[in-house]
Amino acid sequence: MITKIASTGQHSECWQHELATAIREPETLIRLLQLPKSFIEGAKRSARHFPLRVTKSFLSRMELGNINDPLLRQVLPLATELTGQNDNSVNGHLSSWGQLDPVGDAEAMASPGLLHKYPGRVLLVSTAACAIHCRYCFRQHFSYQEANPLGSQFPATLAYLSQNKDIHEVILSGGDPLSISDQRLNRIISQLAAIPHLNTIRFHTRLPVVLPKRLYSQQLDWLQSGQLNRVMVLHINHPNEINDEFRSAIQRLQGHNITLLNQSVLLKGINDDANSLIELSYKLLECGILPYYLHQLDQVSGAAHFEVAVGTGRQLIEQMRNRLPGYLVPKYVQEIPGQAAKTPL
Ligand SMILES: *Cc1c(COP(=O)(O)O)cnc(C)c1O
Ligand code: SF4
Repeated sequence: MITKIASTGQHSECWQHELATAIREPETLIRLLQLPKSFIEGAKRSARHFPLRVTKSFLSRMELGNINDPLLRQVLPLATELTGQNDNSVNGHLSSWGQLDPVGDAEAMASPGLLHKYPGRVLLVSTAACAIHCRYCFRQHFSYQEANPLGSQFPATLAYLSQNKDIHEVILSGGDPLSISDQRLNRIISQLAAIPHLNTIRFHTRLPVVLPKRLYSQQLDWLQSGQLNRVMVLHINHPNEINDEFRSAIQRLQGHNITLLNQSVLLKGINDDANSLIELSYKLLECGILPYYLHQLDQVSGAAHFEVAVGTGRQLIEQMRNRLPGYLVPKYVQEIPGQAAKTPL
């Protein structure tokens, strides 16, 4: 049982502390990484729209003095975010750039924070809290205050799930569902487990990656969740995100009947080269995680400079297919509003 093997972890009490003390000041980030001070001004301006946030653990995997570090690029606010420019004119769909809700979340909301887009499964936008803020996040403009399916709306959420007998899987997404305390997660999941037609619970989370201490908590009962199948979809974009701290933490889940998958977002200047993607697949395999999706970037306002052309993405997948076993090649997909599933590219 996870609760028992976790009992020796000296990290157990401090994940919430590390979450609460994540770096939020551009000056601090730039000083700690010994980066040029000239980046502070732009970072501060962009952080006003979507605050900077990064854990010390994630920071420790970045290279000092390297403004192009692939992990730093995911979290450093840049002045470019405000101009909304993208030099990939070959993509031909620049006009749709800059949306606040690029994936049609508002349309698909069955009740507050509960997204029912695809047959058989629903996604709960569980919380606004994340341990790091990814600059390309498609939910950076989401109105979390109005839509929290696990707060005061929880009875309505449960009623919807109970009434819709064709729903078999509940995805806890966010924000990051693992930023919720164990006590609350335990309560939520036991209530979900009581709905007879639900058979699977899925966590879409980045916390085990950016704050590995999270998995040393003493009360991971929610991971055992009764009769439900358990799936965890991590979010790792670059092989440098996988270090020993993460490896040890994820090992704690091995042997506990939880399927581990990974989704990445294809990001210009971060992972848009075959070698990085291939190395990522192999490093995931060593951790017992299989690649699931490689997402084409959603065209959210502020993220245009991260876009990789679909043609380039297809070539990258082709190179992966030529060099990797099939199970290490992720599905390259895009979310198109109104479609009944993610669209393969
Ligand atoms: C992406 C997504 C899912 C999950 O889709 P899978 O293809 O099953 O991974 C479910 N619901 C919503 C609203 C989504 O955006
Ligand atoms: S929801 Fe996911 S992608 Fe968005 S900021 Fe949080 S961890 Fe990053």
